[in-house]
Amino acid sequence: MLDLIIRNVVLPDERPGQDIGIKDGRIVDIRPALDIEAVEEIDGGGYLLSPPFVDSHFHMDATLSYGRPRVNASGTLLEGIRLWGELKPELTHADIKDRAHRLCRWAIAKGNLAIRTHVDICDPSLIAVEALLEVRSDLRPFIDIQLVAFPQDGFYRDPTAEALLLKALDKGVDVVGGIPHFERTMAEGARSVQRLCEIAAERGLLVDMHCDESDDPLSRHIETLAYQTQRLGLHGRVTGSHLTSMHSMDNYYVSKLMALIQEAQVHAVAN
Ligand SMILES: [Zn+2]
Repeated sequence: MLDLIIRNVVLPDERPGQDIGIKDGRIVDIRPALDIEAVEEIDGGGYLLSPPFVDSHFHMDATLSYGRPRVNASGTLLEGIRLWGELKPELTHADIKDRAHRLCRWAIAKGNLAIRTHVDICDPSLIAVEALLEVRSDLRPFIDIQLVAFPQDGFYRDPTAEALLLKALDKGVDVVGGIPHFERTMAEGARSVQRLCEIAAERGLLVDMHCDESDDPLSRHIETLAYQTQRLGLHGRVTGSHLTSMHSMDNYYVSKLMALIQEAQVHAVAN
């Protein structure tokens, strides 16, 4: 006796008319016209049945805040960051939790059952960290939420960021984040990449860094990220998010860079 059979679905490899047998929370059989009883049966109606979707880059503390405190008139990242800075003092624990819960309910309903979300740690009260840790725990039976400690105002540009980032990790935030292209200079950006990778290595954590989120072809922090990953033996545990400056880079340089990224097994989230 199975717990559940979902009948008559199409699989992602396009096999039609399949039945899925589930026991103790695991798929135990996949075949057409499964001849066994189950506690519950669902008619899949010939629709696609796929593994859940994964959202690999999100900012849940800012979700559903469009127009607060006003709309981004220029549409640029820098105005977006300024707007977030204006909104931050107004945020409350209840407001962040409410917006995050609403977003997660939509995500779950659409089959998105894993979200990696950055959370801004440049706030002495760590209000967003506290709220999203609770959301992660509240919704654990339904969705996997992974939190990234994100120093939005710059790891070195904001003199309080390092202590706050460490505090956020102590509270249970999962991943070390960064924003090297927002530091005051390229050198400071590179130094932040090194320090943040060292923190991850010391604590056995993953890294996911906002990296080179600009059109500047000389924004090359992904090179430093790949190098530090290699140096610290973090292969396969590091992600570069955005990497948008790559489209402006010189082709020869990119041909060398791609090999370094591959060698360090750095993942790319190209959103
Ligand atoms: Zn982001």
